[in-house]
Amino acid sequence: MIYLDYQASTPVAPEVAKAMLPWIEEKFANPHSPSRWGSEAEAAIEVARKRVEEAIGLKGGSVAFTGSATEALNWALKGTVEKAAEKGGKRNRIITLASEHAAVLDTCEWLAGRGIDLTVLPVQPDGRLDLELLERELDKRVLLVVVMQVNNEIGVTQPISEIAKMAHGSGALMLCDAVQALGRMEICAGPDLLAVSAHKIHGPKGIGALWMRKGDEPAPFIHGGGQERGLRSGTLSPALCVGFGAAARLADERQTRDYDHVQKLWKAAVDALGPGWTINGSTGHRYHGNLNIRRKGLDGARLIADLRDIAFSLGSACASGSGRPSHVLRALGLDYRESRSSVRLGFGRYTTQKELVDACHRLAAHAKAQEKLDA
Ligand code: PLP
Repeated sequence: MIYLDYQASTPVAPEVAKAMLPWIEEKFANPHSPSRWGSEAEAAIEVARKRVEEAIGLKGGSVAFTGSATEALNWALKGTVEKAAEKGGKRNRIITLASEHAAVLDTCEWLAGRGIDLTVLPVQPDGRLDLELLERELDKRVLLVVVMQVNNEIGVTQPISEIAKMAHGSGALMLCDAVQALGRMEICAGPDLLAVSAHKIHGPKGIGALWMRKGDEPAPFIHGGGQERGLRSGTLSPALCVGFGAAARLADERQTRDYDHVQKLWKAAVDALGPGWTINGSTGHRYHGNLNIRRKGLDGARLIADLRDIAFSLGSACASGSGRPSHVLRALGLDYRESRSSVRLGFGRYTTQKELVDACHRLAAHAKAQEKLDA
C-alpha cells in the first residue's frame, strides 16, 4: 500500500502515539476535577495548549481546543456573527472565496439563510485571489473576511497577511483556515481567528483548535460546563490534547526538514509522471506536498478504482465520496470533463522517494493504457 492522501489525513507519528498511550491506558481522570489526578491531566493539557500555540506562532491570542477544525470554523463564523448581533453592530456581511473548504462555505450558506449578506469571490485560473477584487468589495458592512492559507484540494496559497491588513483597514475581522498550512509552512501573521486540526499534522483525529486574538473571541457555540474559559463547554480528552501537543511540537521541530523533503518529493513526482499532465493551480504559490494533476481524457475515478493499492483521491475526501466534481476545480474554470480527469497526490514526512516514484510510474502507465483502450 502506498499512501498518497496526506491532505485527507496523515499517519500518526510514533512519538505522538507514545505520548498519548498513558492517557488512554492509565490516566483516566477528568481534567476538570480538582483531585490530584485531575490536576495532573489539566497540567498536561496546558502543556499541550502551549505547544499548539507555539506551532501556530501568532502573538496576542490563545487557543481553545475543539472536536475538529470543522467545529472551530463553525464556531468562529457563527459565534462572531452572534457576538456582533448582541453588540447591536451594523456589520452583517461575510466575504469568502469560491475555493474554500465546505466547512466554511456550507456554514456561510447556513448563515446567509439567516440574514447574513454573503459574498463568495471567484479565484483566478491559478487559484489565487485577485486582491483588487477584494479591495473593491470591502466596505463598512463587512464583519468577517474568511480565506484559507493553503487549499486542501490544489495546495495553492493565498496572501493571508495582505488580506488581513485589507480586512482590518475596513474594520472587519479576518478568519483563516490554516488546517493545511500548520506544520507545513510558516503561519501567516494577521488573522484574528485561525482554525487548525491535529490529524493533518500527524496527530490524532477528533481534535482541532481555534486560535483567537484577545478581545475577538466569538460568542460560545457549545454550552454546558464552562470549560475552555466558558467559551467551549465539554470535557476535554487529555489523550487527544496531549497527542495534538506532541504532534505540534514535532511539526515545529521538523518543519524545515519536512519542507525540504517535500520539495524533493515534488520534483521526483513531476519527473516520474512524464509528459501529458497539467498541474491544477499555481505551481509557485503552492505547498508542494499537494500535486493535483489532470490529463486529457483520463477518468480519475476509474484510475483510483483500478490502482487500489495506491491511496490517492479526486480532490477532497468529501468530493471523492459524493461523485460531484470538485467545486475548487470548477472555481479555477475547469469544465466538468477536466475536473473528472484530475487526481490529487498528497505526500509528506513519511513518504519515501522510491514509493512515490513507483506510484507515479504506475499512474502514468495506467493512464496511457486507459487512453489506448478508449481510443
Ligand atoms: N479545512 C481544510 C482546509 C481541510 O482540509 C479540512 C479537512 O479536510 C478541514 C477544514 C476540516 O478539518 P477536520 O477534519 O478537523 O474537521
